[in-house]
Amino acid sequence: MYLEKHALIENSFGVKSRCEFLAKTESIEEIMECLRFAKENNLKVNILGRGTNILICNNEIVGLIISINNNLSDYSIQDNIITLQAGIGLSEASKIALKNRLSGLEFAEGIPGTIGGAIFGNAGAFGEIIGTLVQKVKIIDIEKLIVKEKKNLQFSHRQSNIEKNREIIIEVELKLEKKNKKEIQEKMSLFREIKKETQPKERSAGCIFKNNQAGRIIDELGLKGTKVGDAEISEKHANFIVNKGKAMGSDMLKLIEIIKKKAKKEKNIDLELEISILK
Ligand SMILES: Cc1cc2nc3c(=O)[nH]c(=O)nc-3n(C[C@H](O)[C@H](O)[C@H](O)COP(=O)(O)OP(=O)(O)OC[C@H]3O[C@@H](n4cnc5c(N)ncnc54)[C@H](O)[C@@H]3O)c2cc1C
Repeated sequence: MYLEKHALIENSFGVKSRCEFLAKTESIEEIMECLRFAKENNLKVNILGRGTNILICNNEIVGLIISINNNLSDYSIQDNIITLQAGIGLSEASKIALKNRLSGLEFAEGIPGTIGGAIFGNAGAFGEIIGTLVQKVKIIDIEKLIVKEKKNLQFSHRQSNIEKNREIIIEVELKLEKKNKKEIQEKMSLFREIKKETQPKERSAGCIFKNNQAGRIIDELGLKGTKVGDAEISEKHANFIVNKGKAMGSDMLKLIEIIKKKAKKEKNIDLELEISILK
Protein backbone atom coordinates (compact mmCIF):
# COMPACT_ATOMS: atom_id res chain seq x y z
CA MET A 1 0.00 0.00 0.00
CA TYR A 2 1.56 3.29 -1.01
CA LEU A 3 -0.76 5.49 1.09
CA GLU A 4 0.34 5.75 4.73
CA LYS A 5 -1.68 7.42 7.49
CA HIS A 6 0.07 9.57 10.15
CA ALA A 7 3.46 8.89 8.58
CA LEU A 8 6.63 10.55 9.82
CA ILE A 9 8.54 12.85 7.49
CA GLU A 10 11.86 14.61 8.12
CA ASN A 11 13.74 17.41 6.39
CA SER A 12 17.51 17.76 5.97
CA PHE A 13 17.54 20.22 8.89
CA GLY A 14 16.51 17.27 11.09
CA VAL A 15 12.96 18.40 11.92
CA LYS A 16 10.29 15.71 11.92
CA SER A 17 6.55 15.97 11.51
CA ARG A 18 3.56 13.67 11.15
CA CYS A 19 1.44 14.04 8.06
CA GLU A 20 -2.17 13.06 7.70
CA PHE A 21 -1.46 11.01 4.56
CA LEU A 22 1.85 10.21 2.84
CA ALA A 23 1.89 8.71 -0.64
CA LYS A 24 5.04 6.94 -1.81
CA THR A 25 3.90 6.45 -5.36
CA GLU A 26 5.81 4.45 -7.95
CA SER A 27 4.01 5.33 -11.14
CA ILE A 28 2.06 8.04 -12.88
CA GLU A 29 -1.12 5.98 -12.41
CA GLU A 30 -0.58 5.85 -8.63
CA ILE A 31 -0.02 9.62 -8.49
CA MET A 32 -3.24 10.15 -10.45
CA GLU A 33 -5.06 7.83 -8.04
CA CYS A 34 -3.73 9.83 -5.08
CA LEU A 35 -4.87 13.09 -6.64
CA ARG A 36 -8.35 11.64 -7.11
CA PHE A 37 -8.31 10.49 -3.46
CA ALA A 38 -7.30 14.02 -2.37
CA LYS A 39 -10.06 15.56 -4.47
CA GLU A 40 -12.74 13.19 -3.16
CA ASN A 41 -11.68 13.85 0.43
CA ASN A 42 -11.05 17.56 -0.03
CA LEU A 43 -7.40 17.24 1.03
CA LYS A 44 -4.69 19.83 0.45
CA VAL A 45 -1.76 18.37 -1.56
CA ASN A 46 1.94 19.01 -0.92
CA ILE A 47 4.76 17.67 -3.09
CA LEU A 48 7.92 16.51 -1.34
CA GLY A 49 11.28 15.52 -2.81
CA ARG A 50 14.14 14.79 -0.38
CA GLY A 51 13.18 17.69 1.90
CA THR A 52 16.53 19.48 1.49
CA ASN A 53 15.06 22.90 0.75
CA ILE A 54 12.00 23.01 2.97
CA LEU A 55 11.14 24.26 6.41
CA ILE A 56 8.83 22.21 8.65
CA CYS A 57 7.16 24.22 11.43
CA ASN A 58 4.12 22.14 12.43
CA ASN A 59 4.05 18.85 14.34
CA GLU A 60 1.17 17.73 12.16
CA ILE A 61 0.71 18.50 8.49
CA VAL A 62 -2.86 18.18 7.32
CA GLY A 63 -3.71 16.80 3.91
CA LEU A 64 -1.77 14.58 1.55
CA ILE A 65 1.97 14.65 0.90
CA ILE A 66 3.06 13.05 -2.36
CA SER A 67 6.66 11.93 -2.06
CA ILE A 68 8.66 11.93 -5.30
CA ASN A 69 11.97 10.35 -4.35
CA ASN A 70 13.73 7.03 -5.03
CA ASN A 71 10.36 5.65 -6.11
CA LEU A 72 10.68 7.45 -9.47
CA SER A 73 14.32 7.10 -10.41
CA ASP A 74 14.76 5.70 -13.92
CA TYR A 75 16.82 7.38 -16.60
CA SER A 76 17.78 6.94 -20.23
CA ILE A 77 20.37 8.50 -22.52
CA GLN A 78 20.34 9.12 -26.23
CA ASP A 79 23.41 10.87 -27.63
CA ASN A 80 23.73 14.04 -25.54
CA ILE A 81 20.13 14.02 -24.26
CA ILE A 82 19.52 12.58 -20.80
CA THR A 83 16.00 11.85 -19.59
CA LEU A 84 15.73 11.66 -15.81
CA GLN A 85 12.77 10.82 -13.61
CA ALA A 86 12.09 13.43 -10.95
CA GLY A 87 13.09 11.29 -7.95
CA ILE A 88 16.72 10.82 -9.01
CA GLY A 89 19.20 12.68 -6.82
CA LEU A 90 21.01 15.64 -8.35
CA SER A 91 24.34 14.27 -7.23
CA GLU A 92 23.50 10.87 -8.68
CA ALA A 93 22.49 12.54 -11.98
CA SER A 94 25.87 14.30 -12.16
CA LYS A 95 27.61 10.92 -11.72
CA ILE A 96 25.46 9.30 -14.44
CA ALA A 97 26.42 12.18 -16.75
CA LEU A 98 30.11 11.76 -15.91
CA LYS A 99 29.98 8.02 -16.60
CA ASN A 100 28.51 8.78 -20.02
CA ARG A 101 31.02 11.59 -20.78
CA LEU A 102 28.32 14.24 -20.69
CA SER A 103 29.05 17.70 -19.36
CA GLY A 104 26.64 20.26 -17.86
CA LEU A 105 25.68 18.73 -14.52
CA GLU A 106 29.06 19.13 -12.79
CA PHE A 107 27.61 21.86 -10.54
CA ALA A 108 25.06 19.35 -9.19
CA GLU A 109 27.76 17.22 -7.55
CA GLY A 110 27.06 17.17 -3.82
CA ILE A 111 23.65 18.90 -3.94
CA PRO A 112 21.45 16.61 -1.82
CA GLY A 113 17.98 17.12 -3.40
CA THR A 114 16.10 15.49 -6.26
CA ILE A 115 15.89 16.48 -9.91
CA GLY A 116 12.20 17.38 -9.35
CA GLY A 117 13.09 19.78 -6.53
CA ALA A 118 15.93 21.16 -8.63
CA ILE A 119 13.66 21.94 -11.59
CA PHE A 120 11.05 23.51 -9.30
CA GLY A 121 13.63 25.81 -7.69
CA ASN A 122 16.05 26.11 -10.64
CA ALA A 123 18.92 24.73 -8.59
CA GLY A 124 22.41 25.82 -9.43
CA ALA A 125 25.88 26.60 -8.20
CA PHE A 126 29.02 28.37 -9.38
CA GLY A 127 27.01 30.54 -11.79
CA GLU A 128 25.43 27.51 -13.49
CA ILE A 129 21.74 26.58 -13.29
CA ILE A 130 19.73 23.53 -14.27
CA GLY A 131 17.19 25.66 -16.18
CA THR A 132 19.59 26.32 -19.07
CA LEU A 133 19.84 22.55 -19.73
CA VAL A 134 16.11 21.80 -19.75
CA GLN A 135 14.48 20.81 -23.06
CA LYS A 136 11.14 19.59 -21.75
CA VAL A 137 9.44 18.61 -18.51
CA LYS A 138 6.73 15.98 -18.04
CA ILE A 139 4.22 17.20 -15.49
CA ILE A 140 1.01 16.01 -13.89
CA ASP A 141 -1.31 18.98 -13.73
CA ILE A 142 -4.61 18.26 -11.99
CA GLU A 143 -4.85 14.60 -13.01
CA LYS A 144 -3.59 15.28 -16.56
CA LEU A 145 -0.18 14.32 -17.90
CA ILE A 146 1.28 17.16 -19.96
CA VAL A 147 4.64 17.97 -21.50
CA LYS A 148 5.98 21.49 -21.13
CA GLU A 149 8.45 22.39 -23.86
CA LYS A 150 11.40 24.70 -23.36
CA LYS A 151 9.51 27.65 -24.86
CA ASN A 152 6.82 27.37 -22.17
CA LEU A 153 9.24 27.11 -19.27
CA GLN A 154 10.73 30.06 -17.44
CA PHE A 155 13.68 29.91 -15.09
CA SER A 156 15.08 32.74 -13.03
CA HIS A 157 17.25 32.88 -9.92
CA ARG A 158 16.14 29.88 -7.80
CA GLN A 159 12.68 29.78 -9.30
CA SER A 160 10.70 28.40 -12.21
CA ASN A 161 7.18 28.86 -13.52
CA ILE A 162 6.19 25.37 -12.29
CA GLU A 163 3.13 26.01 -10.14
CA LYS A 164 3.76 25.07 -6.51
CA ASN A 165 1.90 21.97 -5.25
CA ARG A 166 -0.29 21.91 -8.36
CA GLU A 167 2.11 20.80 -11.10
CA ILE A 168 3.97 17.59 -10.23
CA ILE A 169 7.25 17.14 -12.08
CA ILE A 170 7.60 13.54 -13.24
CA GLU A 171 10.43 13.58 -15.73
CA VAL A 172 12.84 16.01 -17.34
CA GLU A 173 14.88 16.00 -20.52
CA LEU A 174 18.25 17.77 -20.32
CA LYS A 175 20.58 18.64 -23.17
CA LEU A 176 24.19 18.05 -22.15
CA GLU A 177 27.45 18.29 -24.05
CA LYS A 178 29.80 15.44 -25.00
CA LYS A 179 33.16 16.05 -23.37
CA ASN A 180 36.30 14.38 -22.21
CA LYS A 181 35.70 12.39 -19.00
CA LYS A 182 38.83 13.75 -17.30
CA GLU A 183 37.75 17.34 -17.91
CA ILE A 184 34.30 16.66 -16.38
CA GLN A 185 35.85 14.84 -13.43
CA GLU A 186 38.27 17.69 -12.72
CA LYS A 187 35.47 20.26 -12.73
CA MET A 188 33.41 18.11 -10.33
CA SER A 189 36.38 17.66 -7.99
CA LEU A 190 37.04 21.40 -7.97
CA PHE A 191 33.38 22.17 -7.16
CA ARG A 192 33.38 19.49 -4.43
CA GLU A 193 36.47 21.04 -2.81
CA ILE A 194 35.05 24.59 -2.92
CA LYS A 195 31.78 23.40 -1.33
CA LYS A 196 33.68 21.57 1.41
CA GLU A 197 35.52 24.78 2.24
CA THR A 198 32.56 27.15 2.04
CA GLN A 199 29.49 25.21 3.24
CA PRO A 200 28.78 24.08 6.82
CA LYS A 201 28.90 20.37 7.68
CA GLU A 202 26.01 20.50 10.16
CA ARG A 203 22.42 19.69 9.15
CA SER A 204 20.81 22.53 7.20
CA ALA A 205 18.21 23.26 4.53
CA GLY A 206 20.71 24.73 2.07
CA CYS A 207 20.56 28.45 1.35
CA ILE A 208 17.74 30.24 3.15
CA PHE A 209 17.37 33.31 0.93
CA LYS A 210 17.32 33.63 -2.87
CA ASN A 211 19.44 36.77 -3.09
CA ASN A 212 22.86 35.57 -4.27
CA GLN A 213 24.50 38.20 -2.05
CA ALA A 214 22.50 37.08 1.01
CA GLY A 215 25.51 35.43 2.69
CA ARG A 216 27.59 38.60 2.44
CA ILE A 217 24.65 40.81 3.54
CA ILE A 218 23.92 38.69 6.65
CA ASP A 219 27.63 38.64 7.46
CA GLU A 220 27.82 42.45 7.18
CA LEU A 221 24.81 42.72 9.51
CA GLY A 222 26.97 40.97 12.10
CA LEU A 223 24.52 38.10 12.47
CA LYS A 224 26.84 35.11 11.99
CA GLY A 225 26.63 32.84 15.03
CA THR A 226 23.25 34.27 16.19
CA LYS A 227 21.23 31.50 17.85
CA VAL A 228 17.60 30.78 18.66
CA GLY A 229 17.35 27.50 20.54
CA ASP A 230 19.67 25.10 18.74
CA ALA A 231 19.29 26.86 15.37
CA GLU A 232 22.29 28.99 14.45
CA ILE A 233 23.25 31.27 11.57
CA SER A 234 26.29 29.44 10.28
CA GLU A 235 29.73 30.90 11.03
CA LYS A 236 30.95 29.35 7.79
CA HIS A 237 28.25 30.61 5.39
CA ALA A 238 25.76 33.16 6.71
CA ASN A 239 23.00 32.15 4.24
CA PHE A 240 22.81 28.74 5.97
CA ILE A 241 21.00 28.11 9.26
CA VAL A 242 22.37 25.00 10.93
CA ASN A 243 20.97 22.62 13.51
CA LYS A 244 23.38 22.43 16.45
CA GLY A 245 21.33 19.84 18.31
CA LYS A 246 17.59 19.72 18.74
CA ALA A 247 16.54 22.81 16.79
CA MET A 248 12.89 23.16 15.85
CA GLY A 249 11.36 24.66 12.73
CA SER A 250 10.02 27.53 14.83
CA ASP A 251 13.61 28.38 15.95
CA MET A 252 14.64 28.62 12.32
CA LEU A 253 11.61 30.76 11.54
CA LYS A 254 12.52 33.19 14.35
CA LEU A 255 16.08 33.49 13.00
CA ILE A 256 14.69 34.16 9.52
CA GLU A 257 12.56 37.00 10.95
CA ILE A 258 15.59 38.48 12.79
CA ILE A 259 17.61 38.47 9.54
CA LYS A 260 14.80 39.91 7.40
CA LYS A 261 14.03 42.73 9.86
CA LYS A 262 17.68 43.74 10.24
CA ALA A 263 18.33 43.62 6.47
CA LYS A 264 15.34 45.89 5.89
CA LYS A 265 16.15 48.28 8.73
CA GLU A 266 19.88 48.66 8.19
CA LYS A 267 20.24 48.11 4.44
CA ASN A 268 16.71 48.61 3.09
CA ILE A 269 16.94 45.15 1.46
CA ASP A 270 14.00 42.76 1.21
CA LEU A 271 15.38 39.24 1.45
CA GLU A 272 13.22 36.64 -0.28
CA LEU A 273 13.00 33.06 0.99
CA GLU A 274 14.52 30.32 -1.17
CA ILE A 275 13.27 27.51 1.05
CA SER A 276 9.61 26.45 0.85
CA ILE A 277 7.55 26.27 4.03
CA LEU A 278 5.67 22.97 4.32
CA LYS A 279 2.32 23.73 5.95
C1 LIG B 1 23.84 20.99 2.39
C2 LIG B 1 22.97 21.51 1.28
C3 LIG B 1 23.57 22.08 0.16
C4 LIG B 1 22.79 22.58 -0.88
N1 LIG B 1 23.40 23.16 -1.95
C5 LIG B 1 22.65 23.67 -2.95
C6 LIG B 1 23.27 24.30 -4.08
O1 LIG B 1 24.49 24.38 -4.19
N2 LIG B 1 22.46 24.81 -5.04
C7 LIG B 1 21.09 24.74 -4.97
O2 LIG B 1 20.41 25.23 -5.87
N3 LIG B 1 20.48 24.14 -3.92
C8 LIG B 1 21.22 23.61 -2.92
N4 LIG B 1 20.61 23.00 -1.85
C9 LIG B 1 19.13 22.97 -1.78
C10 LIG B 1 18.45 21.70 -2.35
O3 LIG B 1 19.24 20.55 -2.23
C11 LIG B 1 18.01 21.89 -3.79
O4 LIG B 1 17.24 23.04 -3.94
C12 LIG B 1 17.21 20.67 -4.28
O5 LIG B 1 17.03 20.76 -5.65
C13 LIG B 1 15.85 20.51 -3.59
O6 LIG B 1 15.38 19.21 -3.90
P1 LIG B 1 14.50 18.36 -2.87
O7 LIG B 1 14.16 17.09 -3.54
O8 LIG B 1 15.15 18.23 -1.56
O9 LIG B 1 13.22 19.30 -2.75
P2 LIG B 1 12.32 19.53 -1.45
O10 LIG B 1 13.11 20.25 -0.43
O11 LIG B 1 11.66 18.27 -1.05
O12 LIG B 1 11.23 20.53 -2.06
C14 LIG B 1 11.58 21.84 -2.41
C15 LIG B 1 10.42 22.45 -3.22
O13 LIG B 1 10.34 21.77 -4.48
C16 LIG B 1 9.02 21.23 -4.67
N5 LIG B 1 9.19 19.94 -5.35
C17 LIG B 1 10.05 18.94 -5.02
N6 LIG B 1 9.93 17.92 -5.89
C18 LIG B 1 8.96 18.28 -6.78
C19 LIG B 1 8.35 17.64 -7.91
N7 LIG B 1 8.72 16.41 -8.32
N8 LIG B 1 7.38 18.31 -8.57
C20 LIG B 1 6.99 19.56 -8.18
N9 LIG B 1 7.51 20.21 -7.13
C21 LIG B 1 8.49 19.57 -6.43
C22 LIG B 1 8.45 21.07 -3.26
O14 LIG B 1 7.04 21.11 -3.27
C23 LIG B 1 9.06 22.27 -2.54
O15 LIG B 1 8.29 23.43 -2.77
C24 LIG B 1 21.37 22.49 -0.80
C25 LIG B 1 20.77 21.90 0.33
C26 LIG B 1 21.56 21.41 1.36
C27 LIG B 1 20.90 20.78 2.55
